Amino acid sequence: GHAQVGVTGMAVMGRNLARNFARHGFRVAVHNRTTSKAEAVVREFGHEGDLTLARSLEELVAALERPRRVIVMVAAGPGTDAVIDELVPLLDPGDVVADAGNAHWRDTVRRHDALAEHGIRFAGVGVSGGEVGALEGPSVMPGADADTYAEIGPFLEVVSAHVDDEPCCTLVGPDGAGHFVKMVHNGIEYADMQLIAEGYDLMRRLLGMEPAAAAEVFREWDGTELESYLVGITAEVLAQSDAGTAGPLVDVIRDAAEQKGTGRWTVQSALDLGVPVTGIAEATMARALSGDTARRAAVRDALGDQDPAGPPARVPTDDLRQALYAAKVVSYAQGLDLVRAGSAEQCWDVELAELPRIWRDGCIIRARLLADITEALERHPDAPSLLATPTFARAVTERLPALRRVVGAAVQGGVPVPVLSAVLAYLDALRAERLPAALVQGLRDYFGAHTYERVDRPGSFHTAWAADRTEVEAG
Ligand code: NDP
Repeated sequence: GHAQVGVTGMAVMGRNLARNFARHGFRVAVHNRTTSKAEAVVREFGHEGDLTLARSLEELVAALERPRRVIVMVAAGPGTDAVIDELVPLLDPGDVVADAGNAHWRDTVRRHDALAEHGIRFAGVGVSGGEVGALEGPSVMPGADADTYAEIGPFLEVVSAHVDDEPCCTLVGPDGAGHFVKMVHNGIEYADMQLIAEGYDLMRRLLGMEPAAAAEVFREWDGTELESYLVGITAEVLAQSDAGTAGPLVDVIRDAAEQKGTGRWTVQSALDLGVPVTGIAEATMARALSGDTARRAAVRDALGDQDPAGPPARVPTDDLRQALYAAKVVSYAQGLDLVRAGSAEQCWDVELAELPRIWRDGCIIRARLLADITEALERHPDAPSLLATPTFARAVTERLPALRRVVGAAVQGGVPVPVLSAVLAYLDALRAERLPAALVQGLRDYFGAHTYERVDRPGSFHTAWAADRTEVEAG
């Protein structure tokens, strides 16, 4: 019979996703711009299931049952547009195109609307889990209209990761909602990784631990509330020794972190929406700073790297563990706030509790914590912040003293902890009875007559700063 799904883009992600479909018994047609790659997939993995080679997009479309389901897994941006432009004239109304690459959610909205003009249904599908996830079960964040999801969702749910028989895949919302959520997922991933890196840096520079010893601590933490994929692989990377130097591998890896851009998109969207995702933002900035090696060298030369402060304060590793947990909770809370705001602006109606639920397995940020976040959001769907739910209010309050000790020791010891300290500042600011924003308002009124509100009566007010400094009620 005809193939049930077609996958175009046979680089690592598309190839593994196609194999995943085939391994689950689906009939799959595979295509790649450079045909040899699709041929290789059929040759090497054809025994895993029903994989049919398509040498062109025409052949791919011809191989598919109707309505056709074409999954596009190519380089995001112009690559995706090129494939879609070529596909559209080949498809019929009612057919479904699902972009499973890392598209910007605004591009997904645009493509959804453009294809709708041709009657072609479009899904923007966020896929996380890297190449192993694509093969063995990713976390899948689809954005689509309900009728589109009815065509493609059942397939995605079968190949996604599962927790207790529940798929880590659910309809997130319409058009760009899935890619928006995938973007925020990646932003949280940036914060998680930077937090782990800060914890490691503190172990080394405050506590004098070698990477192997730090690896042991992370391995131990992986059996606690911090249990997560990223903490687990941190233990492995830190324990790895380098064949060439016989020292720790981490010591010979260039300390300049790269990024493909989803962290930057997260921060840009957050700025547009006015949502303070300070943990994700600092993590993104930390990568940029690390990569700015010329400036780092110049400033190190100019300022010196010796801290004039006394010897570094020590903190117990248990403080680090608690600080990391609290900070991780805050970065999730901030990410979820961003989804809430994006959903409100775009009228997507995203159900927040569904997100930690589908992140419990398959994706890079999978963590024990996500089950608790799901439960807290299910019980308190209208909580204005994850931090305002009873479970996490208590969890963070209990760990706040440890977080404060850790940030204090880091500052004292000259160890940069941009995310830990940003997260602490965020908590302190949110909890403050009064913020110095009152003074900012006063200054704005002074130089720009921007007016201010008062705490004791309604209305807008202006002080005649340049004249007699009396206060007048503004229009
Ligand atoms: P790449 O992002 O490296 O993209 C390579 C694929 O895109 C190849 O199949 C290539 O075809 C095709 N391609 C590029 N430009 C065009 C074009 N103009 N027309 C047709 N085909 C084109 O592949 P990955 O497998 O790494 O990722 C695929 C998608 O999944 C990307 O959007 C990526 O962001 C996303 N993603 C990747 C993850 C990862 O861990 N790598 C994780 C989650 C999502 P050809 O062989 O002919 O050059």
